[in-house]
This record gives sequence, C-alpha cells and structure tokens, in this order.
Amino acid sequence: MNRKKLSLPMRILIALVLGVVVGLVCYFTDNAAFTENWLKPFGDIFVNLLKFIVVPVVLLSMIDGILSMDDMRKVGSVGIKTVLYFLCTTAVACVIGLILANIFKGAGLFPDLSGQLGSAEYTPSEYAGLMATIVAIFPTNMWESFRTANMLQVIVIALFLGGAMLAAGEKSKLCRDFVASAYSVIERLMHFIINLAPIGVFTYMAWVVASQGAEILGHLALVLLCAYIGYIAHGLLVYSSTVKLFAGVNPLTFFRKASPAMLFAFTSTSSAATLPVSKECADDLGVNSDVASFVLPLGSTINMDGTAIYQCVAAVFIASCANMDLTLSQMVLIVVTATLASVGTAGVSGAGMIMLAMVLEAINIPVAYIGLIVAVDRLFDMGRTCLNVSGDIACSVCVSAMERRKEAARKK
Ligand code: ASP
Repeated sequence: MNRKKLSLPMRILIALVLGVVVGLVCYFTDNAAFTENWLKPFGDIFVNLLKFIVVPVVLLSMIDGILSMDDMRKVGSVGIKTVLYFLCTTAVACVIGLILANIFKGAGLFPDLSGQLGSAEYTPSEYAGLMATIVAIFPTNMWESFRTANMLQVIVIALFLGGAMLAAGEKSKLCRDFVASAYSVIERLMHFIINLAPIGVFTYMAWVVASQGAEILGHLALVLLCAYIGYIAHGLLVYSSTVKLFAGVNPLTFFRKASPAMLFAFTSTSSAATLPVSKECADDLGVNSDVASFVLPLGSTINMDGTAIYQCVAAVFIASCANMDLTLSQMVLIVVTATLASVGTAGVSGAGMIMLAMVLEAINIPVAYIGLIVAVDRLFDMGRTCLNVSGDIACSVCVSAMERRKEAARKK
C-alpha cells in the first residue's frame, strides 16, 4: 500500500491541537495532575535530548559556517549584517511593546493588582553590571563553557576556533575534516530527534493547558493579550516587510515554511532547543547553508524580539501596579535596557523573566514585584520564544539574499 506520510509541520500542528483538547479535558475534569505526572515527563525527555545536542550544534554549526565562507571578510560582512538586523528589530520590538502597554494602561485595561504588591514573591539573582557581563562572555576554560552550556561563551569559542582554522590554511585540514564529519553526524542526530517533535509538542501543550488554564482565564488575561498583540504585530510588520524587502520572499511563504520551528518554539519555550528545527526551516526557505549555520546559532543566543516586547509590557504593567507613571526618559531607558537584556537572555525557558530584573532596576522598580506575573510566565514565554525564533529565521533569509546579491555583483 502506498501510504503518504504526513509532513512534519502537519504532524506538529495535529499534535498541538490534540494537546489542547486533552489539556482542556483534563482541566475541566480536574485531572491536571495526570498531565503533570504522566505526559509532561515525555516532553521533558524530548527537551533534554534537544538540550544535549545544543552545544555541539552551535559549536560545530558556527565553525562549519565560518569554514564554508572560507574568507574572514565574508564572515565579517555576514556578522555585521546579522548583528545590525538583530539590534534594529529588537529596538523596534521595544517601541511596539511600549506603545501597546501604554495604550492598554491608558484605557484602564491593566488589572489593578496593587493590593497584591506586598505578597509579590520573587528573589532575583544579582545583576553584576554591564562591564562584568561583557568580561564574562570570554571564557577562561573551554570545557567549563561546554559543561554549563554558556552559549555566549560557546559562540566566542566557535568564532575564535573557526577564524584560527581559516588563518592556519592547509595545516588545519585535519581539523576542518573533523568539523565537517562531526557536523554531519550531529545533523543526522538532529534529524532523528526532530522527528520526535510531535510527542514533545503534544505532551507539553496538554500539560500547559491543564495546569495553567485558570491563569489564562484569570485576571492576567489582558496583560497576556497585550503581549500577544505585540508579538503578532511585530511578526507581521517587521518580519513580513524585511523578508519581502531584502529577500523578495512572500511573507505567507515565509511564515508557512517557518511554522514548524515557530510551533516547536511555542511549546518548548527554548530558542536554543528549537535550533535544529529552525535550521531545517531555513534550509526549506533556501537560505545558504553557511549563512544559516552562522546566523541561527547566534540568533538563538542574542536575538530576542519577543523577550524585548514582554519586558516592556511587563515593566509598564508592574509600574502601573506600583502606581508609578513612567516619564519619557524612563521609557527610553526601558528601550535601551530591554534591548541589552534581551541580548543577554539565554535561549532557554524562563530566562527572559530573570533578565526583566535588569530592566526594572534601571527604572527603579523593586524587582520583587516580578512575583506578580511569575505564575503566568510560561504563557508569556510561549509567544515570546515563538517570535524570537521567527526573527532568527527571518534574519537568515535576509542576510543570505543580501550575500547572494553581493556575490552575483562581484562575479559580473
Ligand atoms: N524562552 C526564551 C527563548 O528561549 C527566552 C525568554 O525567556 O525570553 O527564546
């Protein structure tokens, strides 16, 4: 019998819908514990598998990308375009987040939780300051960076090793062959793990809906709505227009082909864990492999537009709960700190909320007030990770098209 296998996006979508249905049934029959004890562990196994390959994927993929470009000038040109795209889109994301949050606040749509401020419980970790944070990007021990999965350090290691292999020329042949061979093995492994994605999506979705259904329906619904309008507006305005403008890609095609990674990010809430899926989507969108290998790992670590929107919305909301009216200069400060905080946010579940502390500190709001939204962070995180990952893929599409044009012009 010639049975046609469903495509991965289709299987992920079906898993998502089934997950919502099962989650709702468990929510209304008071069986949330079942999803927590029996379904979520399978999602955890899947996410663990993804996390376990994330360090080799980022390291090997970036070195492989640098080696395929075969020219430090091209690495520089791709690097500059990538970082510019990331910074500009993140700044726009902050502005969108602030405008929406102020509209919601102005219309009295944010709930008044000021009575609960005393009970807000959240103990932030110490923020070391800007210079100390920059110094910490440079590793003292390579193995320690791998062991702790410190992705910014892994990226620095990849840049140095890749650059050194290019500079060493012929003598680095053995190392280059090793990277190419190890990367193909990791790619096979990635492929295998990604095929398990529907299981991860189904189990996580059922668990989230069953255990957080009350919060979705509760008083934080409007703050969530505000953030989600921001996520959607940013995706539609910024990514649609940039992929069209820089790469001539139809936005609908872009979102259709990026959907497996978006859906996966939505349920896993980790850009780093979604990296293998993003790579497949970028391939599907015709992004040059060397550019995708370089841009996507970098993006999954430093490009977080969804996180920036969330941080702006959360900052305005928390300020309004504390009865503080933000001045224009405080808003500008939010844009700057939220852009930096989103760069420093790791691509893992919940990291954006930890970095929110930095934004609140900048505008002198007690960070303990994060406790007001801690319960629903996962719901914010699902949307922001989805947007973060779309931004990485959009950037790879744009940079790849620009590099291709440059190459063609040079050959003429
Ligand atoms: N979970 C997000 C990501 O991996 C980071 C965040 O918490 O904002 O992209």
